[in-house]
Order: sequence, then structure tokens, then C-alpha cells
Amino acid sequence: MANLLIIGAGGVGSVVSHKCAQAAKESGAFDKIVLASRTLARCRAIAGSVKERLGVDLEIAEVDAENVPQLCELIRRAKSDLVCNVALPYQDLHIMDACLECGANYLDTANYEPLDTAKFEYKWQWAYDDRFREAGLTALLGSGFDPGVTNVFAAWVVKHELDEVNVLDIIDCNAGNHGQAFATNFNPEINIREVTARGRYWEHGQWVETDPLSWSMDYDFPDGIGKKKCYLMYHEELESLALHLPGLVRARFWMTFSDSYINHLKVLGNVGMTRIDPVKFHGQEIVPIQFLAALLPDPASLGPLTKGRTCIGDRLEGLKDGSKKIFYIYNICDHEACYREVGSQAISYTTGVPAMIGAKMIAEGKWKKPGVWNMEQFDPDPFMHDLNIYGLPWKCVAVDEKN
Ligand code: NDP
Repeated sequence: MANLLIIGAGGVGSVVSHKCAQAAKESGAFDKIVLASRTLARCRAIAGSVKERLGVDLEIAEVDAENVPQLCELIRRAKSDLVCNVALPYQDLHIMDACLECGANYLDTANYEPLDTAKFEYKWQWAYDDRFREAGLTALLGSGFDPGVTNVFAAWVVKHELDEVNVLDIIDCNAGNHGQAFATNFNPEINIREVTARGRYWEHGQWVETDPLSWSMDYDFPDGIGKKKCYLMYHEELESLALHLPGLVRARFWMTFSDSYINHLKVLGNVGMTRIDPVKFHGQEIVPIQFLAALLPDPASLGPLTKGRTCIGDRLEGLKDGSKKIFYIYNICDHEACYREVGSQAISYTTGVPAMIGAKMIAEGKWKKPGVWNMEQFDPDPFMHDLNIYGLPWKCVAVDEKN
């Protein structure tokens, strides 16, 4: 059992809180659960929903996750063994510093990004490896869906189906519709920084760059979802998977976007609204993307509006006993079913459930090893087992070479 501190009461934080309460109730994985965030009212609303749906009490607290002494005071007061960071990537290093100072294990769902550069790299967090090892603490990076489950899917296929993976395509499809002209399914600032960054994929031992959203393909998704246009993007799990998957020749990441989303983004980019550098406006500095984020719908508000399904998975080509084999491993998640269960849409749900399972793996000692780790570095089996139990069932199918 662990005393768990969840930081960040947004769309993902709400799902993590509900699912951790469920795991505490059903398996006793967590003892005390504290939810802390910048705005106490948001924590209170989530704790109310958890109590109503599951009958579990959460403690709540206000914290500025960029203030290490404040974080330490909270971790010590709550006697937290494990901190689940589902605030924003800008806070990752502060929270890791606080965990080291107070002797708590750490988990997040997105890698650190400096505020002034939209750059997704693990180097800042990997640099903490020695300190976590020396402290005997575990830090688990990227325990969402992508990164997260996509890494574990790859590790599972390598463990059970292939001797080596030569070609990996991670394909993220949101076939849902929220009826809004333009809205993002998770934090708008982080989402737009990610989507407007240059594309990048791994081939023959090096990174190849592409212009943002300049490459696309049609992919035929299973279970009636059908053909959708997917755009090549850089995504952070490619960096760790390129290091950790044996025999990898090419790794790419693709995401579906509607024409309306792409058109809005183009216009917003053309007029400078997605800029991340400060500009002077009426004598004060504003960052256009932050102003834009303040105008867009709160992702948490999309829950009751979103219909349809997501389908996120890995297509892996490789060798088994010298013969070429291809597998597609995926999960399908229904927006409305998520809303009925925890009051959130499927993007928050598919991130929050794996964050809870990662925390449970650490709490149960199944994924507990001093150091800083990516998801594919642990045994995938217990995590894959829990995906089926906690709402993200998966399928792995052999693919005909023509597909
Ligand atoms: P939201 O914007 O909905 O929530 C973020 C929460 O963090 C808000 O409640 C916010 O507080 C809080 N917060 C921000 N800054 C601070 C601070 N300094 N101190 C304390 N709390 C703070 O984002 P999401 O829930 O959509 O996303 C959460 C994380 O999940 C992000 O890092 C995102 O990148 C990641 N993610 C990962 C995915 C994956 O598959 N791996 C997919 C989707 C998201 P306030 O309410 O006061 O603004």
C-alpha cells in the first residue's frame, strides 16, 4: 500500500483520482489519496464526484507545483510515498526535485518541456537517474496512453510475439466528435505546442525531420471505425523506444486530425496566435498561445459533448524465428462510456487509467527499481493485465503483409 499524492486537478487528474479510488477500494493498492492542485475548487469538485460515485474520501490541498519548498511541505504533511504528476510538463523537474528531497517515488505522463522552447526531450529527466538510484527511489516517465501504453504494447509484442522489431508505427486515432468548431482534448497550450512542432521520425539510426503536418497517410482502423487521415508528428515515446527496442530500423508516430482542426490551426498559426514567445500588447507582455488557450473550451468541459471512439495502437513489423511477422496491437475506447463511468471524455480517460496503473505497479512493488525509467523497461505483463481490468481492454492481431 502507498500513500499517494496526485498533483493536477485537470481533465487527466480527475480520471486518475477516480481510478485510484477504485483501485484503493478493490485491490487496496493505495492507502491515503491526496489530490492537490493550483486551484482548490477544482480538487473539491473532483473529490465530490469520487465520493459520490465510489464512496471513497480523498484529501485535497492547494499547491504551486513550481514551488519546491511548498511541495515538500505537502509531501511531508501527507506522508506521501508516491507522487503522480498530472499537472503540466513545465512542473516535472520541480516535482522530481521535491520527491528526491522528501524520499517519495515519482510518476508522470508527459516529459519536461521548458516554457520558452517547444522541445520534447527526455534528457532533462534522464539526468536525474543517478540521484534516484542513490536515493533508492523509482521515477516512472510517461505513464499515459501515448507515451505510456504505446511503449508497453511494444514491449509486450517483443516479449511474446517477435524476437526483434524492425518497423514501428504508433497510430493515434480520435474518431470522436465534440461538435465544437475548434477545441483540444487535453491542455490546449501543450496540445498546440506538440502539434505545431516539426515532425521527426527515426530511421537507420538517425532522426529525420519534416515540416509540421506535411506528411499524411490513410489508415483503415478496425471495428467499424474505418479509414482516417493520419499526420506524421514527433512524439516523445519515439526517443526512448529508439533506444530500447532491439533491431529497430524505423519508428514513426501518426495522429488523426479532422480537416476543421487542421484549417483552424493553419489560420491561427498564420496570424501568430500559436506563438510561444511573449509579445507586447497595450504596455504588457502576453504569450499568444497562452491567451488562445484561455479562450478555448476547457478539455474537461468536452466530456458531456463528445461522442464516438478512440483507437490507439502500435503496428510492429519484425522477425520471429527468422520469419517476417506483422502485428497490430490496440485499444478502442468509447467517449460516452467514459463519461458515464467517471464524467470525462476518452482522451482524459485513456491517459488517466494508465497513470493509475503505473502508480499501482510502483505501489505493489511490481515496477519498483531505483532510477529513472521509461515504460518499456519493465515487464509488460502485469500492466497489460491491469489494462483489461481497469477499462482499457486491448487486442493484438497478426496482420497480412498487404495491409
Ligand atoms: P489540464 O490543463 O486539464 O490540467 C492541468 C492541471 O494542472 C490544472 O488543474 C492546473 O491547475 C494544474 N496546474 C497547472 N500548473 C500548476 C502549478 N504550477 N501547480 C499546481 N497545479 C498546476 O491538463 P490535462 O489534464 O489535459 O493534462 C495533464 C497532463 O497530462 C499534461 O501534462 C498533458 O501533457 C498530459 N497528457 C498526457 C497524455 C498521454 O497520453 N501521455 C495525453 C494527454 C495529456 P488550474 O486548474 O489551476 O489551471
